[in-house]
Amino acid sequence: MNNKQKGRLYVISAPSGAGKSSLIQSILDTSKNFELSVSATTRKPREGEEEGKHYFFIEDNEFDALISKHAFIEYAVVHNHKYGTLKSHIEEKINKGISVICDIDVQGYKLIKDASIEHTSIFIIPPSLEELEIRLINRGLDSPAIINTRLNNAKKELKFAEEFDYRILNDSYETASMDIIDIVIDGKSSNNKDKINLKILRDMLS
Ligand code: 5GP
Repeated sequence: MNNKQKGRLYVISAPSGAGKSSLIQSILDTSKNFELSVSATTRKPREGEEEGKHYFFIEDNEFDALISKHAFIEYAVVHNHKYGTLKSHIEEKINKGISVICDIDVQGYKLIKDASIEHTSIFIIPPSLEELEIRLINRGLDSPAIINTRLNNAKKELKFAEEFDYRILNDSYETASMDIIDIVIDGKSSNNKDKINLKILRDMLS
């Protein structure tokens, strides 16, 4: 019998532009025991994105076929495209003792939570909605119309932040990366910090 310890599932969500990718990268750079889950999507690849590394880029009918085969642990329509986490992909890593980080939206997170799949969840809060808009404009990936959709979605997503196990405020990359490493790698968390972050979140939404 294989007694090797299994990996753990981590779900990290944030509005686009909140700095989630860099924070996830800080975990991957700190420990070899963590890997990023590669989702399937019907979105077309952006410049520099690679098949199997950033996403499995598939057609709409292929995505629907995977839904009928129950191949996803969760899936959702995000910014008008379908995205899903592949069951086989996650199980393979977890069974090898590798912990997997799922960078998914709040709808996907809710499905994982409701299905009682064992996991730890973290929501990344941007410093402010104004700063989020500046970051989305400065990264130059999206048209003004798409930035507008993403900002409207951000407001909806922030309302779900209270449902996560932990919240991290990304107003300074150094502090936020230390906070995420404390939770994910060292299994430590500060209740006091979470209380402050909850207050900032509530003020942002009021
Ligand atoms: P992007 O198109 O910018 O790569 O991702 C857009 C959004 O889709 C992000 O919020 C990301 O977290 C979310 N996303 C990526 N993969 C998945 C997935 O497998 N499931 C769900 N529910 N959301 C995903």
